[in-house]
Formats: sequence, structure tokens, C-alpha cells
Amino acid sequence: MSHGYHGIFGGAFIPEILRETFRRLSAAYSEARADPAFWAEYVQLMENYSGRPTPLTFASNLSREFGGRRVYIKREDLNQTGAHKANNVMGQGLLVKRMGKRRVIAETGAGQHGMATATMAARMGLECVIYMGAEDVERQRPNVFWMEQLGARVVPVTSGTRTLKDAINEALRDWVGSMDDTHYVLGTACGAHPFPEMVAWLQSIIGDEARRQILAQEGRLPTHIYACVGGGSNALGIFQAFLPDTGVELIGVEAGGDGLDSGRHAARLAGGDGRVGVAHGYKSYFLQNADGQMRDTHSVAAGLDYVGVSPILAHLWREKRVRFAAATDVEVVAALKRLMRAEGIIPALESSHAVARALKELPDLPTDAVVIINLSGRGDKDILHVADAIGDPGWRAFIQAKAAHYRGMGERP
Ligand SMILES: *Cc1c(COP(=O)(O)O)cnc(C)c1O
Repeated sequence: MSHGYHGIFGGAFIPEILRETFRRLSAAYSEARADPAFWAEYVQLMENYSGRPTPLTFASNLSREFGGRRVYIKREDLNQTGAHKANNVMGQGLLVKRMGKRRVIAETGAGQHGMATATMAARMGLECVIYMGAEDVERQRPNVFWMEQLGARVVPVTSGTRTLKDAINEALRDWVGSMDDTHYVLGTACGAHPFPEMVAWLQSIIGDEARRQILAQEGRLPTHIYACVGGGSNALGIFQAFLPDTGVELIGVEAGGDGLDSGRHAARLAGGDGRVGVAHGYKSYFLQNADGQMRDTHSVAAGLDYVGVSPILAHLWREKRVRFAAATDVEVVAALKRLMRAEGIIPALESSHAVARALKELPDLPTDAVVIINLSGRGDKDILHVADAIGDPGWRAFIQAKAAHYRGMGERP
């Protein structure tokens, strides 16, 4: 790998005006990576602030249901703000301090990355601006409320489709004018070099722990590891520690949405119709139409609903080191319900993709299989979607009562 290329994927396709900023970021990242004190400080911060190491929970009930095949769950849901995103933002926060910057910006769709960034900024005493499509600001009111209470300024973006891609453009516009004192906190292992590598490195804390934990608990390496793939950061986070162990099968699970034949999905690699292209600063597989325009994607899980995929994962897929599969929305909701009932764990809809694929393959795995599912986040945030998908009648009544209450408030003089 050189200049941020992984095979033919990656690179840094950025406007000239940002070159110097990226050069400085690359230098700061390389220095931090070569300095054991940085990693030690990072691990200590994550232990102290985010409950690390997260447990590797033996799923005893599921294991019994699958005839003694041993199922483990890596509990990234127990992090600060409820997902692996904390690993990335806290690490970048330390890097911001190292670079002597005082302000961070980020863009967010469903709000999870914005929430994580806002908590980091509060903790580290940084000014924080979050760009969010105006449409998403309305849909994600609770997250917007918390981000503002945490001290971030949330800027609704009213251009274009008023969603994530317009927020990305606005954030980049900000950065061009503010790069001297501002860092752009990217949320996943995508974007221009050094972001994919840097984010994957910060997330590698997941796999480092999981490898130690499975050896301590099981006395051997796992046979299969399942992780969901949006941009690819939680998957790379757990996969990297096992790349040299060719006996460990690594499975990335993308959003199958309404099914791969429906066209309504976000399966860039497993879907078979993703194509190599350059967008958002990097070269990888993207879901595009015939003339190269980015296609609309669909998933029940907002965190997996993205047109591109990490260039590092695209390369590992081409090299046949990581296998890709998809789980449909229907399979995902069923898996979520099953994990809740079997183990008392409420997984995020994103993470439930990894659960769904593992549940589907488990009956056909060797009886001595040892499986790790990377549970990237917790599901509390998904209550609206899940209650809707399950068709819970009590929930509908609750929403109607609330709506009536707020209408009543509006009518007061
Ligand atoms: C954001 C998110 C994802 C998707 O991001 P990756 O970079 O692919 O890991 C997955 N799970 C949860 C819970 C998330 O919040």
C-alpha cells in the first residue's frame, strides 16, 4: 500500500485548495501511529470514558439453539453513545489536540455520528458544528436536541435534496474556509486518504480486544466473524486483527433492503451491480446508474444506507479475503427480535444485519464452529422503525396521543 492505495482502490481525489490540509493531516496521523504514547493514551481514554474493553459475550442460549456451535457477541453497543462510532471520534479528537486545532465539523445523516462528535467535542473542549440536511433535522429531532444540549451548533442544509449528500457539500465548503483551525471528523473508513486508513486504525481496537478475548475464553481462534458494512469502519475494526489468520472466515454484511432483485438496497459488493468509480474523494465500488450517476440507496438501517464502501474493504473483497453477503430488511427485523428474546440484547438495526446473516448460515456451519458477531451498536435509537416494522398497536396509540397533546399545546393562547 502506498499513497493511500489498496490495490486499485483508495487515493485522494480532492480539490487543490485542500491539498495542504490533507498533507498536514497525513503527517499528524503518521506521527501518531509511529508514537506508542498516542495509542496508550487512546486506549486509556477509551477505558476511562467508553467502558472498554467491551465484553465478548458468550451467547449461551443461541449456541444451544444451534446445536452447540459456539456464538460470541462483541459488545460495541456498550460504548459511549451506544456504538463503535465512539472509538473513531475520540481517537480523532486526540489527533485534533495534537494538531493544535480548536474546532471540529462533521456531517451526519441519521444523527449518530453527529451525536458521537458532539460528545467528543464537549469532553475535549472543542467548538463543534454539525451539518445536517434540513429534511434529516426534522426527522431526527431527538438527536438534534441532544447535539445542541451538548453544545454543538447544528446547521440545517436547505440546498439540493436537503439530506446527507448536501450536508457533505456544506461541510467541505466550511472546511475550505476554516482548515487552519478546524478538523473535519469523518465518520467511517471512506473518503480521501488518510481517512480510510486512519479510521480503520482507530477502530482496530475492537479486533485487538476480540482476538485476546476469544483466545482467553475459547482457547482458539474463531472460525467465522460477521460484521455489518455501511462505510466499513466496524467491520474493518474487528477484521484487521484476524487478516493473517487464513482459517478465520470474514463476512461483511451489506443492506439487502427490499431484496437484491428489487434495486432498492445498498449492497455495493454483494449486490453484483456496484461499479468501480470515483466519488467523495476516493476510488471504490459505488452504486451507480448506466451513466455513472450515484443511485438512490435503501435500507431499514440509516447507518448502512450509503452508495460507497471503504476502499480497503473493496480491495479485501477483490483479494477474496473478505466474503460479502446481504441481509434484507425483513430478515433483519426477524433477527433483531430473535436476539432480543434469546439473549436480552437489543441490537441496532445496522448490527442486526450481521446477526441475520449469522443466523442464516449457522445451521450449515460445522458443529465445532466458533462464531463472533460484531454488534456495532444498540437498538434504542431505532424504536420508531422497529415498532413500525413489527406493527405494534400500542405504539401507534402512543404516537396519536402525543400528537393530540402537542396540538393542544399549540392551541393554547
Ligand atoms: C454508523 C453505524 C454503522 C455503519 O458504519 P460502519 O462504518 O460501516 O461501521 C453500523 N452500525 C451502527 C450501530 C452504526 O451506528
